[in-house]
Amino acid sequence: MSIKVLGLPYDLNSSFLRGAALAPPRIRLMESDGSANTFAELGQDIRSGQAFEDLGDLDIMADRPEAAFAKIRARVAEIIANGNKLVSLGGDHSVAYPVLDAYLEQYPGLHILQIDAHGDLYDDFDGNPYSHASPFARLMETGKAGSLTQVGNRSLNTHQREQAARFGVKIIEMHQFSFDFLNHLQGPLYVSVDLDGLDPAFAPGVSHHEPGGLSTRELFYILQNIEVPIVGGDVVEYNPIRDYQNMTAMVAYKTMKELMAKML
Ligand code: MN
Ligand code: MN
Repeated sequence: MSIKVLGLPYDLNSSFLRGAALAPPRIRLMESDGSANTFAELGQDIRSGQAFEDLGDLDIMADRPEAAFAKIRARVAEIIANGNKLVSLGGDHSVAYPVLDAYLEQYPGLHILQIDAHGDLYDDFDGNPYSHASPFARLMETGKAGSLTQVGNRSLNTHQREQAARFGVKIIEMHQFSFDFLNHLQGPLYVSVDLDGLDPAFAPGVSHHEPGGLSTRELFYILQNIEVPIVGGDVVEYNPIRDYQNMTAMVAYKTMKELMAKML
C-alpha cells in the first residue's frame, strides 16, 4: 500500500465563483516555498516522493461534467485497485462524487465523513445535477455508502433537511458542535474536507464565506483523533482567487499532511 496524490483541477460545477481549479499547484507549492516543514504534528514526515507519490493533475479542466467525471472515476479506480490510498486535491466539491463512486466499487459499504459548511445534498441546483451543491445527494442515491456523517454544517434549509432525513445522513451542526461523533465513526472511512467547513476567519480562500465555522485547531483535532482506518480522502474548495498571502493554501497543505498522517 502506498499513498497517492492526484490533483483534480475542476470548477465548472461551482454555483457562485470559479477559481477552485487553480488550487492543486498552489497547495503543492506550500511544501517547497520554505515557510514550513513537511512534518505532521504527531511526528510523521509527509514528504512528496517518500510518504506519498504525487501523480500530478488529471487533465479535465476543459471537459464537460459527464466527461470529466468519467475520467475521474476511471483514474481513481485504477489508482486504488491494488489497495493504494488516494488523497485528491480539488477542485470544487463536485469532484467528490466520481471519486467516491469509484471508492464504493472497491469498498462496498464505505463510511464517509464530510467536513463542510454545507450539506451538498441538493436534489437539483440551478438545473445542474452535477453541481458542487449536489455531490452527496448523487452519492447517497446509489445506496452504496455505509453511512455519511457531516460536521460543520451551518446552512441547512428545509430542502436539505428533508434530503438528509431521506438519506439517513448524520449531521453535527455547528450550533450543537461537539467532538462526541468521533466515538461513533465506523471504518473503513473516507474523509472529505471542504475547506469552507472552517470559519472564513481561518480559511478566507474559499468561494462561500459562511460565518460561524470550525477553527483550524478543531479540524486538526478531529483528523488526529479518528480511530478507524482511513482509506482515502480529499481536500476541496480551496479558491486561490479569494485567498490572502497563500494563507488558505497553507491550511489546505497542512490539512493534507494531518490527513495523510492518519492514513500511513
Ligand atoms: Mn462542499
Ligand atoms: Mn461547502
